[in-house]
Amino acid sequence: KPADSADPANVQMEVFVRVRPLNARELATGSKTILRVETKTALVFDPTEDSEPFFFRGTAQKTRDLNKRVNKNMLFEFNRVFDETSTNEEVFEQTMKKVVKPVLEGYNSSVFAYGATGAGKTYTMLGTSDNPGIAYRTIVELLSQVEQLDGWRVTLGASYLEVHNENVKDLIHPASGKLQLREEGGHVLVSGLRVETIRSADQLFSLLAKGNTNRTQHATETNAESSRSHAVFQVHVRMEHVMNQVRLSKLSMIDLAGSERGSVTGYEGEHFKEGSNINKSLLALGNCINALAGGQKHVPYRDSNLTRILKDSLGGNCRTMMIANISPASSALETTYKTLNYATRAR
Ligand code: ADP
Ligand code: MG
Repeated sequence: KPADSADPANVQMEVFVRVRPLNARELATGSKTILRVETKTALVFDPTEDSEPFFFRGTAQKTRDLNKRVNKNMLFEFNRVFDETSTNEEVFEQTMKKVVKPVLEGYNSSVFAYGATGAGKTYTMLGTSDNPGIAYRTIVELLSQVEQLDGWRVTLGASYLEVHNENVKDLIHPASGKLQLREEGGHVLVSGLRVETIRSADQLFSLLAKGNTNRTQHATETNAESSRSHAVFQVHVRMEHVMNQVRLSKLSMIDLAGSERGSVTGYEGEHFKEGSNINKSLLALGNCINALAGGQKHVPYRDSNLTRILKDSLGGNCRTMMIANISPASSALETTYKTLNYATRAR
């Protein structure tokens, strides 16, 4: 697959992996690093003696083959691998920066942050005010490229929604309650979702930050308050040319629910099997991405609200990127391995 084709129509999906540094808890408990980033595109999964072994469940040959390979020195290749010293700026430069131009040419684009809770999804997408994530950097780049356009009048809008247990909520206007999806001329619309006009990157960053405080909280689950929800941030671009031409496009940035909620417990045929603690949208997304990566005609967009909402931003002429976030710790062996496998199948 061309990693950087000039024609966005030829590009299906690019998959990136980002390894975060060991955190304080992992260091304190003596966790070892089980990953070696070998090149800019390859990493080796190499569990240490003290790592717990684990197995996928299932009777299909594919599952048996997967199990044979677990716990060995395994090489994984992606479009790019970012090691624990990588910065948000570097990740942005190598990923979303190159979709800004196609978006202004009318192509939809989306980027997904995938990974277990605590693996670094929000750090990558949102970051902090001192160290903005790729969402902020993408907006800054978009605004700067818009300024350089000649002959187009550009209007930018932003919306921010959450899919939590298949319920859709406006994160900027949570008082709107549960939003319904509606189909109109083959497009799926979120009824009542408000689109804010964007004037500056800073205004946008505060919208994002505000939306984030409205993500679903679970009092009983400390440190995992938003692990079950998908946060979908979308920039809506409307361009009007002096010659009356109109271009509409959309850039979607998605901080997915923790992958442990939709993790593969085995897999039979081409479909992910449901685990006990399943997240319907995460499962459906995996199946859509698999279908697209495998060139299948039928893509099961209708299986969840997340995939319905993102139908026009996944596959087709869209540029789609997935950034799989992982911990290098031996204590995270299983989720890291599963994330690497999920990401591999998306290519
Ligand atoms: P997730 O959103 O996947 O649950 P977070 O992004 O909240 O995970 O990251 C968990 C913790 O690890 C946070 O305290 C975050 O600041 C830190 N962290 C994540 N990725 C990195 C990184 N690449 N460098 C430094 N700290 C990181
Ligand atoms: Mg998060």
